[in-house]
Amino acid sequence: MKGLFIFCMLVLAAFSNDSFIGDQVLRITANSEEQVYMLNDLAELDHLQLDVWREAVKPEDSMDIHVPHGSLQTVKAFLESNGISYSVMIEDVQSVVNHERAEMLAARSTAQMRSTNSFDYANYHTLEEIYNWMDELVSEYPHLVTKEQIGSSYEERPLYILKFSTGGNNRPSIWIDTGIHSREWVTQATGVWMAKKIASDYGNDESITSILDQMDIFIEIVTNPDGFHFTHTKNRMWRKTRSINAGTSCVGVDPNRNWDAGFGGPGASSQPCSETYRGPRANSEKEVKAIVDFVQAHGNIKAFISIHSYSQLLLYPYGYTSTSVPDKQELHDLAQRAVSALSSLYGTSYRYGSIITTIYQASGGTIDWTYKQGIKYSYTFELRDNGRYGFLLPANQIIPTAQETWLAVKVIMEHTRDNPY
Ligand SMILES: [Zn+2]
Repeated sequence: MKGLFIFCMLVLAAFSNDSFIGDQVLRITANSEEQVYMLNDLAELDHLQLDVWREAVKPEDSMDIHVPHGSLQTVKAFLESNGISYSVMIEDVQSVVNHERAEMLAARSTAQMRSTNSFDYANYHTLEEIYNWMDELVSEYPHLVTKEQIGSSYEERPLYILKFSTGGNNRPSIWIDTGIHSREWVTQATGVWMAKKIASDYGNDESITSILDQMDIFIEIVTNPDGFHFTHTKNRMWRKTRSINAGTSCVGVDPNRNWDAGFGGPGASSQPCSETYRGPRANSEKEVKAIVDFVQAHGNIKAFISIHSYSQLLLYPYGYTSTSVPDKQELHDLAQRAVSALSSLYGTSYRYGSIITTIYQASGGTIDWTYKQGIKYSYTFELRDNGRYGFLLPANQIIPTAQETWLAVKVIMEHTRDNPY
């Protein structure tokens, strides 16, 4: 096994498309408002090619930045000369990526999926593997699970959702999506684990059984399949869609800035090269429009849970404005209960609150739009971790992450069941 692993590392070193050799992720802590501004200005200098993994809004927030090898000296000199403290969060990004790939390859060569029971939930999987697994799940639970295509991606990949239903017609429903930002791999893996959990718990777990006797659940596991494919084949750190932008070589739109809620406002970029580029207009991205059309056509979705990583947060609207939502108290109390259920398993600590007060202003986000559509229980999770590995969370944390997240999701689903509106 160890020999195979080393072999895989060597193969990867020879064929990998990523080019993160010598890149580092720095964890930077500003100690004044002025330093926060300086860091934000630094991050916007195009020639440094910095990729902000986590933003800082106020002093004492840590800011995580992926710095290409070629910019390291400049950035560190800048930080040191301005008295801004930092530590190295990831010493060499490429070696962490290689390790992750080698684990995937080693697992794939030893395990073949014969059923969803033998599927390797403790490893990351490609788009094809996840799509095959979905078909297997549908065939194993034919009376509960169906697969629907809600559209196609920019590169014409099918956009699939799994529907969990015990019957009825257009029942009140719960929506869960994972992976709208493609590099947040623990989210798609969590979506896979949760879908299996729902299927196998029905008839065995009282809570899930009673939810599914009254409501349907929809899960879109790979919400950005073009980006996800790209993270497996070309660039592990790809976040956006893969649509071509007119007049520039920079590809992709941030699908969490593309919704029709405060679209174009502060907290999203008008620059196609930015990681938070909002797109030419609201719903320009087919991946977003497919969900918009589905939600509107369905008309009876009562909870909408959009899952991201990382930072360990549970957030409710709004992100685009500091005005509180009318249901703030209820959403806040529910978030608190969900977080305490989550933490009860492994002690993972989460913060919670509205997007704008807890992290930063962000316009055109998913759950601001769903809330404005009348979906009261609209939430966003930011899963593990809190900045040791960031987007490169080791595969051995997938199952614990999914298990604890599930407890929080269940609290939100139960509350939705018990508080019809
Ligand atoms: Zn995200």
